[in-house]
Amino acid sequence: MATTTHDVDIERLQCISCSKQFPIRELRYYCECGELLEVRRHDSVLQGLIKPLVGARANARETWNQSGVWRYREAVLGLTPKEIVTHPEGATRLYTRPSIADYAGIEQLFLKHEGENPTGSFKDRGMTVAVSQGRRLGLTTVACASTGNTSASLASYAAHAGMRAVVFIPQGKIATGKLAQSLAYGALCLAVRGDFDAAMTLVQDAAKKLGIYLVNSLNPFRLEGQKTIIFELLDQLERDPPDWIVVPAGNLGNTSAFGKALREAHAAGWINRLPRLAAIQASGAAPFHASYLGGFKGLSKVKAETVATAIRIGNPVNYTKATGAIAATNGCVEVVTDAEILNAKAIVDRAGIGCEPASAASLAGAKKLRDRGIIKPSDRVVLILTGHLLKDPEVILTSADAQQALIEIDPTLTAVEKALGRRSG
Ligand SMILES: *Cc1c(COP(=O)(O)O)cnc(C)c1O
Ligand SMILES: [Zn+2]
Repeated sequence: MATTTHDVDIERLQCISCSKQFPIRELRYYCECGELLEVRRHDSVLQGLIKPLVGARANARETWNQSGVWRYREAVLGLTPKEIVTHPEGATRLYTRPSIADYAGIEQLFLKHEGENPTGSFKDRGMTVAVSQGRRLGLTTVACASTGNTSASLASYAAHAGMRAVVFIPQGKIATGKLAQSLAYGALCLAVRGDFDAAMTLVQDAAKKLGIYLVNSLNPFRLEGQKTIIFELLDQLERDPPDWIVVPAGNLGNTSAFGKALREAHAAGWINRLPRLAAIQASGAAPFHASYLGGFKGLSKVKAETVATAIRIGNPVNYTKATGAIAATNGCVEVVTDAEILNAKAIVDRAGIGCEPASAASLAGAKKLRDRGIIKPSDRVVLILTGHLLKDPEVILTSADAQQALIEIDPTLTAVEKALGRRSG
């Protein structure tokens, strides 16, 4: 097997609106017309990633083959092994649990747990690509605005790459686990007095004026990495596509990446039909849902508020790409309340799997779509769990369940017996 990837010239950046092209090594995030860019390459690249090749790579010892991202490297980014900053990441498990399937009313329910990535969220799949690209372009400082997981991931990959990380977080609105990670991995953490959307505006200004590489999901290389959630899922399902893929939706990076991955896999003949994509928003942060109801005629930003901090976003940067993903897959957008999210989270947690609040929006959304008859009981459905349980301990420790299950006792057998009697099962 060759150790170098394909010719880099077959990859380029292309505007999603006017189709103007730019070299893959040009430092830019937007087209001259103001729209976002995406990475383009020929569909035949994916045709070459046949199952035996991917399987052989998964069983090989090199770090880049161990990575669930870089084993699809020809469809991600043409880099040499030396250019790649990888932990490795990806290669996450696919779970089935009767209790969760019962809750949703869906017989064939799978959960792909992206919280099993090195820093505990799917963000690692995009970050390995964006940080590798930033280093290849010769930049030494990387930055992002983040509701938490992007900053934890960036801090980790920058540490690995020997680069400086600066993260812009909304002051007081980031879960403890995520902030602790960012600090521990050595990032400079700027707690912006404002919400995520304010932090996002500020970091874009800073990147433009201060020569910093921006790795928010408007960075097209992030999405190339996140596509591998779908590639890996399809391989785990023997390339027999599910009927539905359900994902929490905040900045709409995953929704966009999933749409691109599915279209590429379909065009390359990996799958003979497209699964339907369901993007789930929290009711207090649902501009994409509102736009969907209006036929995607435009986006009105909102002031976002939800317990699911990872999707607490009122002005999603990948809006246009995501509308394409929903349209191309005959998908839909659903909305769930914080109470529905927390109920669903308790179901995932009690199954022994666990996830952070935003991740549970996928189960809450699948249940709602099932209740509304949009998902059929016989449909094969995959839920994406985006982040790890330990990301947000407060939400667990302050819950009513926790108050009941945590009992302080004297060091006596009587006290133990009393506590057991108080709480059976
Ligand atoms: C980033 C994140 C999301 C939102 O994903 P988008 O791609 O921004 O829509 C959802 N859940 C978790 C845990 C996240 O970290
Ligand atoms: Zn353009």
